[in-house]
Amino acid sequence: MSHAFERAQDERVNWVKNIPFLLVHAAPLLAFYTGVRPFDIALCAGLYVLRMFFITAGYHRYFSHRAYKLGRFMQFLMAFGGATAAQKGPLWWAAHHRHHHKYSDTNEDIHSPLKGFWWSHVGWIMCNKYNQTDLDAIKDFAKYPELRWLNKYHLVPPIALGVACFLAGGWSALFIGFFLSTVLVYHGTFFINSLTHLFGRRRYVTTDTSRNSLILALVTLGEGWHNNHHYYQSTANQGFFWWEIDLSYYGLRLLSLFGLAHDLRKPPQHVLDANRIRDGYADIGMFEAKLAKAAAQLQDARHRTSAYYEQRKRAVDELVESTREAALRIAKMTAKTPVDP
Ligand SMILES: [Zn+2]
Ligand SMILES: [Zn+2]
Repeated sequence: MSHAFERAQDERVNWVKNIPFLLVHAAPLLAFYTGVRPFDIALCAGLYVLRMFFITAGYHRYFSHRAYKLGRFMQFLMAFGGATAAQKGPLWWAAHHRHHHKYSDTNEDIHSPLKGFWWSHVGWIMCNKYNQTDLDAIKDFAKYPELRWLNKYHLVPPIALGVACFLAGGWSALFIGFFLSTVLVYHGTFFINSLTHLFGRRRYVTTDTSRNSLILALVTLGEGWHNNHHYYQSTANQGFFWWEIDLSYYGLRLLSLFGLAHDLRKPPQHVLDANRIRDGYADIGMFEAKLAKAAAQLQDARHRTSAYYEQRKRAVDELVESTREAALRIAKMTAKTPVDP
């Protein structure tokens, strides 16, 4: 089947490169041999929440969007915490994320679900195309040598955490506490790239397909308010109203109470009130996405129609040919038959 977006050679999954990534997914299964204790489950839950916080509040809201300010030590701590989630370095992560906002749901977008759910969820990570960090896209943080170091040796924090889990609770703590929570944080994070552009409701007009979902906001500590976020990106809170639960933001508020984070940016009232779809604004993002989908389906239908006629034409040609041959054979047979006098 043809798509509006074509998959290039360097966009194919590199299975060899991804063996470690696949092994991380398989590791929790080893708990069938070791058994699981309440301690392992508590560790898994704790590390899920903590690392999801570092990813959303740190990698995403701080490094990608500069939604608040940190001192240099806290900045490194946030980057190190994010790196323990084994989603590569902060500069790599934030540079790619800035790219996503710049080109949301266009052919340039790294992980638009318009290229398919699987691609937006994990396909783009498993191919070779996006291995490098574009330092130009993240100059503001690439100037710190400690962040460049962490970006290069991004495996140090997750390995250190894995070893710490093993020392704290043995094999089952490693398999469940560390590996299972790592896998859950992976897919919780990936949902932001896939499901939040497919599942939920749209409040604001944006040029993309982002949506708001309470369930995804709970799973991802606040990132499920993705339509809010695409509409107004540089805020520390992504839940714009009191009922939009945003645990990462509450965590940041707590840090700011202790003076560890400051200048938390919030959307101004006139921004909150403007461009609401229910006020009658045309939803250009969904319109464009639907148009692209319709164009792809039309192209596909054209292919199918022409292929069908091609096949019919061949069948008719073959029929004509075999009829002609049969007629010739009959003529020859008739010619050979002795004519009765
Ligand atoms: Zn973002
Ligand atoms: Zn998005």
